[in-house]
Amino acid sequence: MANRSIAALGSHCALQLLKGAKDEGLSTLLVCEKERLNLYKRFRFIDDIFAVDNISEILSDKCIERLQETNSILIPHGTLIAYMDSDQIEQINVPIFGNKWILRWEADRKLKQKLMERSNLLVSKAIESKNDIHGLCIVKLHGAAGGRGYFTAWNRESFERQAIRLKEQKLIKGEQDLFIQEYVLGVPAFLHFFYSPITNEIELMGVDRRYESNVDGLGRIPAREQLCADIEMSYNVVGNIPIVLRESLLLRAYQMGESFVDTSKNLVPPGMNGPFCLEGVYDKDGNFVTFEFSARIVAGTNLYLSGSPYSDLVYPEPMSMGRRIAREVKIANEKNMIDKITS
Ligand code: AMP
Repeated sequence: MANRSIAALGSHCALQLLKGAKDEGLSTLLVCEKERLNLYKRFRFIDDIFAVDNISEILSDKCIERLQETNSILIPHGTLIAYMDSDQIEQINVPIFGNKWILRWEADRKLKQKLMERSNLLVSKAIESKNDIHGLCIVKLHGAAGGRGYFTAWNRESFERQAIRLKEQKLIKGEQDLFIQEYVLGVPAFLHFFYSPITNEIELMGVDRRYESNVDGLGRIPAREQLCADIEMSYNVVGNIPIVLRESLLLRAYQMGESFVDTSKNLVPPGMNGPFCLEGVYDKDGNFVTFEFSARIVAGTNLYLSGSPYSDLVYPEPMSMGRRIAREVKIANEKNMIDKITS
């Protein structure tokens, strides 16, 4: 079979993806905004750069032609989801790694909640109306905005007050742009999985937690200031911190991943192929309450460029998620099964 290139948009986890592809002996192509060239041109594992003025140009005929000429497989990541709507992604005329149809289920809050609930996961409840807020809730913006503008509310009045602030800041048009979810007390954890439709096996590749501003800074000031200073909360991700789970939690982690994959096969054929992430909170009893999923690689995997405590149990070589994706492409290419791993 003709050789394949791995292509990605220049942001999010592009470095990890293209480094992993090069480690597997594949060619690499980066679609990169001109203002970011100064960063990406430093890395020798990037063979080819297609420079654009802005990210939406990935849809242009010229860019699509370059992707097709280089026999590229485009790896979707958070920036693609954040800047493009589901219709645009579905129309990209280049093979996309994994199942592009499931990205719509990630982007749409209702579909997302449905897939999590049907997967027999413990799920943080969605609250339909501000009139139904009777305990601590987290209020989210739509899309993969990285936690920016999220706030907590405990009754209708606190919800309305903060919604007005977001409207003034032009982060939302109105309350209809907000999604209310029960707040789960515990510790957040993001479980990175890879499912291969070639081997029918699920792999736990790593776990992280996010380092979010300003919520993770609140504990650095005394309670008196927290109460008096009228602080605006936000969950803007600035980085990721590694986590190793206690071993007794691993069995359930694999079960949750498998159950999610099985359910997705029925709801969004051909199912959750490739990398995905279950995102939630371990409560005080050690139960994982899921609040989100990502149906593609997450940026927390950038921690494990040289492998993780979990990938090390399976692979003799350092296996990042980016490299695992490239290996799947290589194997599928050899077996003439590219159609099974792309959409
Ligand atoms: P998300 O963008 O939905 O992954 O959420 C961003 C951050 O908000 C997470 O890293 C958590 O710190 C927090 N978070 C989201 N949903 C919940 C929830 N239901 N309960 C508690 N914390 C949450």
